[in-house]
Amino acid sequence: MSISSNPATSEVADRKFGRLGIKQLYTALEQELNQARENKTFKSEIPLDDKQAGIVSVNGKTQVMLASNNYLGLANHPRVVSAAQFGLDMYGFGLASVRFLCGTQKIHLELEDRIASFLGMEAAILHSSCFAANEALFAAILSSDLGFSDYRDIIYSDQLNHASIIDGIRLSRMVAKGTELKAYPHNDLAQLQQSLKQDCETVYRIKMIATDGVFSMEGEFAPLSELVDIAAKNDALLVVDDSHATGVLGKKGRGTPEHCGVHGRVDVITGTLGKALGGAAGGFIAGKKPLIEFLRQKSRPYTFSNTLPPAVVCGTLEAIKMIEEDNSLVEKLQHNTNYFRKEIKNLGFKIIEGIHPIVPVMLGEAAIAMDMSDRLLKEGVYVRGLWYPVVPKGEARLRVQISADHELRDLDFALSCFGKVGKQLGVLSK
Ligand code: PLP
Repeated sequence: MSISSNPATSEVADRKFGRLGIKQLYTALEQELNQARENKTFKSEIPLDDKQAGIVSVNGKTQVMLASNNYLGLANHPRVVSAAQFGLDMYGFGLASVRFLCGTQKIHLELEDRIASFLGMEAAILHSSCFAANEALFAAILSSDLGFSDYRDIIYSDQLNHASIIDGIRLSRMVAKGTELKAYPHNDLAQLQQSLKQDCETVYRIKMIATDGVFSMEGEFAPLSELVDIAAKNDALLVVDDSHATGVLGKKGRGTPEHCGVHGRVDVITGTLGKALGGAAGGFIAGKKPLIEFLRQKSRPYTFSNTLPPAVVCGTLEAIKMIEEDNSLVEKLQHNTNYFRKEIKNLGFKIIEGIHPIVPVMLGEAAIAMDMSDRLLKEGVYVRGLWYPVVPKGEARLRVQISADHELRDLDFALSCFGKVGKQLGVLSK
């Protein structure tokens, strides 16, 4: 193949042989973006004027925030903010290092201990995000030979698991080529057990079962009491990403395991600091000591990425302290959630039933979800729509997220707007 110096011929050659010059690359990217705009899958951002809270401001207009993961309202709580300010004053803005060089302060170790004891686990290791934690976990464990000259591992993964679990597993299968993946239908334990039974004749070195604790598109939780038993019976390591449940579910906010009566019995829990636990950023993996110590040696996102800033560490420590001190925030969240779930159904909307503060209001067509979220924003309710390909075709929805930072009057205002806009769009009968 020769590269022509004639621009016209060169363009033909480029198309024919599938090359993109830099200029054409930008054109192709523009075309993709325009396509996404046409398909209404283009994600746009609506900037907030100031802080994240139950009530926010957008372009000077007050909005009831129903789209954030600020479940306990700690993202802007005075105690968390002042702890973060203390962290800034005492420990500085950043550490300019990864953990093992010079990026560990006593507060990082304290936060790891605090997370572990909050979750009833032996130890925990911080990462820059839960996404990074999930990328770290599978690859670190499955890529090590652990003294085996030849081996095969297998991961059973719920089909609706979060993107970070999916990518973590993908990465592990790139580095450990023999690793098999079996994605089981969402929460289908019969299918999972059948696969485990079928595979029991095959010698796998490590078996893992991976699931979200709470599935973020639905607000449903994984049946962890059964999963703990299934994992134990099959000698499989159970990994639960509890990002949407830590600080949210369970009497004391300790997450899906507490809610399901198996607190301290899940092998590995991954989670985020970016939702209920203050909402800043950061993630963790919690589990038995040897696993966590091993990850300190082998997790690439831990080894080659910067430590968490002190303000975030101190703010998160305070957030956990507040949740441990008393149940009032968790109880308020649960009370608000029950109230909204009951009242939105009374208005005539269809929701996915459950108990989680994620309340999917089902609308069917993407166009209605888009229109409804735009109109609600004009009324003073900030809520985002989800549609295909994020959720199945015909299952477009508004994903409402309730917070302990809401007062009942805020929820009543939002509900009245839902009623008004629902009637305007013919979702509700007049
Ligand atoms: N896991 C789940 C289930 C999530 O919902 C999210 C965030 O949306 C993440 C992981 C990623 O968390 P982080 O923002 O800490 O990377």
